[in-house]
Amino acid sequence: MQYISTRGGIDPVPFTRAVMMGLADDGGLLLPRAIPRIGSETYEEWKQLSYPELAFEIMSRFIDDIPEADLREIINRSYASFDTEQVVPIVHQGPLHIMELFHGPTLAFKDIALQFLGNIFEYLLEKQDSIMNILGATSGDTGSAAIYGVRGKERINIFILHPHGRVSKVQEKQMTTVLDDNVFNIAIRGTFDDGQAIVKAIFNDLDFKEQQNLGAINSINWARVLAQVVYYVHACLHISSHETDKATDFSVPTGNFGDIFAGYIAKRMLPEGTIRKLLLATNANDILSRMVSDGDYSLGDVVATSSPSMDIQSASNFERYLYYLLDEEPDRTRQAMTQFAESGKIDLTDFQTQIQRDFTTEKASEEDVSSTIAEFYKEYGYILDPHTAVGVNCALKHQKKGIPVCCLATAHPGKFGDMVEKSIGKPIELPESIADLLIPGKKSRCELMDADRNLIQDFVRSHARRN
Ligand SMILES: *Cc1c(COP(=O)(O)O)cnc(C)c1O
Repeated sequence: MQYISTRGGIDPVPFTRAVMMGLADDGGLLLPRAIPRIGSETYEEWKQLSYPELAFEIMSRFIDDIPEADLREIINRSYASFDTEQVVPIVHQGPLHIMELFHGPTLAFKDIALQFLGNIFEYLLEKQDSIMNILGATSGDTGSAAIYGVRGKERINIFILHPHGRVSKVQEKQMTTVLDDNVFNIAIRGTFDDGQAIVKAIFNDLDFKEQQNLGAINSINWARVLAQVVYYVHACLHISSHETDKATDFSVPTGNFGDIFAGYIAKRMLPEGTIRKLLLATNANDILSRMVSDGDYSLGDVVATSSPSMDIQSASNFERYLYYLLDEEPDRTRQAMTQFAESGKIDLTDFQTQIQRDFTTEKASEEDVSSTIAEFYKEYGYILDPHTAVGVNCALKHQKKGIPVCCLATAHPGKFGDMVEKSIGKPIELPESIADLLIPGKKSRCELMDADRNLIQDFVRSHARRN
């Protein structure tokens, strides 16, 4: 499989180059040249497979430049770190199927992609006898999942910026208590946006980027999307063996459009009608919801909510979907993105019918989230985290009789314990890995620095891994 850029400015590259490139060299996003189609017969056969076996079947259709045995080994190792052999269990609560994506080391769904990406990086660097310095900014979940994806790896150092005092206690501890020599946490005196801007500026210094072999782990990396396609297929296989209706809807708590875009790829791969609708669930940061309901893709201000990993306006994966919407024409995609950069909006009113063939949308307010957590606990004894609760609230508003809805549970409730405890009115039992982090006196390592690009660049330079 070859990969092309949404902006058409690069020669096609194989998977391993696409992973190392992250963002395409022309500023676009990488996509497979064609989306493989899965026939009904193959699909039926997949019902017998374990999660890692299924992951191999799907990924190998997108990857033809890693030997089969090596790819299997990378996948197996990536999912062996999960706390259940099922990797992604699906539970049934009331009228909904809930797909628990939080059984990895940092208890959020980002582990599913970042455990895999960390192992792919390690494998490719070994082959190329090379090294990498990963630099990223986080508002909480991505940073810890990325750190756990590469901690202790020989050829990789990782530098993660987080806004000092603005991530949850659990998120902070998850990052700073990792004491491996190759992990550098930097708390900056500033916001997440300050961190993001610094990282962008450093990546734009192309000489520095090359000298230090800078690598990115943000959600635009194709390997992350690919790893996420797997669990949509896994859910369809599971649900179709439990329900008479073979079509499934998915409710996806959405921020950067990475997770739901993986659902869109799965929908196009699978036999017609296997996935019916992708329900785009948002909190008050509703640009994507407006896009689906009115074709209005225009930036608003970011509002802080109880589901912070979805407090995003400019969704970095949206360009991928736009490319398909614009008939896979790179020139039109580039123009639309230029227009967005200049005016902060793209008018998609002419594409309503097309968008609504695949997507539908609902929004959840802060009261909705809190009451959904409380009521779901009261009715079923099941505790939702605030992100999952956005999706569940939207699913309940949307659900039509007879069509199964699968809600993506994107984080363990213990990760956002304070908010959840307030909603259900009692303390929750923390998983061992979180309880352990919160023991007073637990050793941690972190640099506190001003949000100053030069200071941070110097720090990276002096702690970077060298060949
Ligand atoms: C990142 C994240 C999301 C949003 O996913 P996107 O791929 O950015 O749309 C939702 N919930 C949790 C817990 C997350 O960490």
